[in-house]
Amino acid sequence: MWKKIASIALIAWCARAERFEAAEAHMGTLVRITIYAENDSAIQPAFARIAELDQELSDYKPDSELNRVCRAAHARPVRVSGDLYRVLEAAQKLAARSGGAFDVTIGPVTHLWREGKLADPQTLARVGWRNLVLRDHSVFLKLERMQLDLGGIAKGYAADEALKILAALGVKRALVAVSGDIAAGDAPPGKSGWTIRSDPGGRLLSLRNAAVSTSGDTEQFLESGGKRYSHIIDPKTGLGLTDRIAVTVVARRGLDADPLATAISVLGEARGRAMAARYYPGAKVFVAAP
Ligand code: ADP
Ligand code: MG
Repeated sequence: MWKKIASIALIAWCARAERFEAAEAHMGTLVRITIYAENDSAIQPAFARIAELDQELSDYKPDSELNRVCRAAHARPVRVSGDLYRVLEAAQKLAARSGGAFDVTIGPVTHLWREGKLADPQTLARVGWRNLVLRDHSVFLKLERMQLDLGGIAKGYAADEALKILAALGVKRALVAVSGDIAAGDAPPGKSGWTIRSDPGGRLLSLRNAAVSTSGDTEQFLESGGKRYSHIIDPKTGLGLTDRIAVTVVARRGLDADPLATAISVLGEARGRAMAARYYPGAKVFVAAP
């Protein structure tokens, strides 16, 4: 009896849920939120959470928390927000697991890259994940003029966090796409998952309560001496990757999928797959050579 009433109520509720979609510019890219709900009132708070994270984690905004910490944390350890600490902890864990292929201290090199310049040995000397020390919610930078760059991990975390805001407001059937870093909640009504086309492999994925990230986009590159250098840098050489591989990773959280995709791009398919299988057994890895 109660079961029957509950299922009728569920059907009535599902029938009321409408599809809402909105897009806004954040984190230097387009963020798209899609939900099934009675109304779209949960969408703005989710975008606001992403804007808040951008203010904490961006290395483009001079007054972001990240950049303020970079300027101060060589003199003494600096206590940081829960978000920044969580992202840095995840980054350092993957740095160790990937043998330094993923390294958020790569900032001095990526900043040169943005000016169209290749790294020189003095710049590379300011890079190295072991020079970033995390303890008791504080950050300490061992070298002078270090620069952290969370471009390979922050978007995945932001997608996770926006999804959490939506869920807290009662909207569980939701999809948050921060460019190629996508987090999915419960499936749309009547479906078993959200259909996502992995880019540029073109494979169709069905996703529910999981995240997917693709790295190695072919649009961002620097051309020098007839070579194309990707915006993904091999920390060992300080140079952007020249092999064109695109890596798509499906994991439970964007906080894992996003940096894993970047790390596997640097490691190459064989070593990348081995690392993922060892430390992230639940993750799925797809590699395409575009
Ligand atoms: P996208 O930004 O296209 O989603 P990624 O998630 O792979 O691609 O992130 C690439 C960004 O990560 C670069 O623009 C740079 O900010 C940063 N980055 C580049 N190389 C590394 C690396 N080896 N480890 C960590 N972050 C990196
Ligand atoms: Mg990434």
